[in-house]
Amino acid sequence: MSSKPKIAFYGIWPEMAGYLKTKMKGLNPFISSDKISEDNLNPNIEILAVFVESPLTSKIIEQLSHLKMIATMSTGFDHIDLATTKKLNIPVCNVPTYGENTVAEHTMALILGLTRKLFPSVKRVKEGLYDFHGLRGVDLKNKTLGVIGTGHIGAHVIKMATGFEMNIVAYDAFPNKDLADKLGFTYTTLDKLLAQSDIITLHTPLLKTTHHLINQKNIKKIKKGAYLINTARGALIDPEALVWALQHNQIAGAGLDVLEDENLIQNHEELIGCTQYERKTTLLNNIIIDHPNTIVTPHNAFNSTEALQRIIDTTVENIKSFIDGKTINTITEPKK
Ligand code: NAD
Repeated sequence: MSSKPKIAFYGIWPEMAGYLKTKMKGLNPFISSDKISEDNLNPNIEILAVFVESPLTSKIIEQLSHLKMIATMSTGFDHIDLATTKKLNIPVCNVPTYGENTVAEHTMALILGLTRKLFPSVKRVKEGLYDFHGLRGVDLKNKTLGVIGTGHIGAHVIKMATGFEMNIVAYDAFPNKDLADKLGFTYTTLDKLLAQSDIITLHTPLLKTTHHLINQKNIKKIKKGAYLINTARGALIDPEALVWALQHNQIAGAGLDVLEDENLIQNHEELIGCTQYERKTTLLNNIIIDHPNTIVTPHNAFNSTEALQRIIDTTVENIKSFIDGKTINTITEPKK
């Protein structure tokens, strides 16, 4: 690897570009505010940095014949075709821990927004009606929070929920007993968690084993009137099951920062070429967005000033280390 490889950053918002340029001083990267696509890639790129909204398909990766490393500016990596990077021996480096507090704080915002009926309350006052009737919420104190996935973000949510004096149960494919002892929560099975929790929050990566983790079968096992929160990945929840649960009052509401096939919600033109399943999901997503008992934010949980600086800091560190011959923060293939 030369000391001055061709580095490209895609999807960099103008307000971040200045900070990024300072951190990358001397390496002269190409910086684009656009998402990467087959139309705008430069085949000479050796190091490529992208956010999650730039899907790195096998087609894109294979067109970059000089590509030596991918730096994803995210924790999740399900937007990258790992079979192709593995085949071509291209390391993928991520930002393992930029936002455990950031995403956990957004999770709490969704929980409080739903349980205190924040959005209908604000709407009513803005419309000139200063009246609390019909806006009664519920306490968090003494309620049970079910945390699915007790990694960096899940653990942080547990710490915060403890401050609200909630009882906590958790489910994880790889339970961490020391963490449970330290933070004072108990592990249980997924079914028991669904049956016991007043609020359920998802914090697992999207893997084959977690795809539709909440599905048509087990959504019926959720305690009637519980709230469902997802700030991890949309496809952890089957959208058809979610619509059913909302329409049959199986759940009191849902707070979602992510939706399955969320990239299609705004891109109506792309719908023409997509599968029937994706079209159906998009329709279901619109029903979910319009439902009065949901709060949907546009994959915004990571988006704080401090988190973005941490994302850039680690991404630059990943790239500089790679150039120096030491690959760090390589994503490891999940065990399950
Ligand atoms: P992490 O790797 O620290 O924790 C994930 C946890 O999930 C681990 O404890 C792991 O054992 C568990 N897990 C793995 N497979 C499982 C399975 N089959 N069943 C149950 N549990 C399983 O990850 P993290 O930093 O806490 O992040 C969690 C997810 O949050 C990321 O994968 C990413 O998709 C998402 N995320 C979203 C945003 C956003 O802006 N909305 C930002 C950052 C991360």
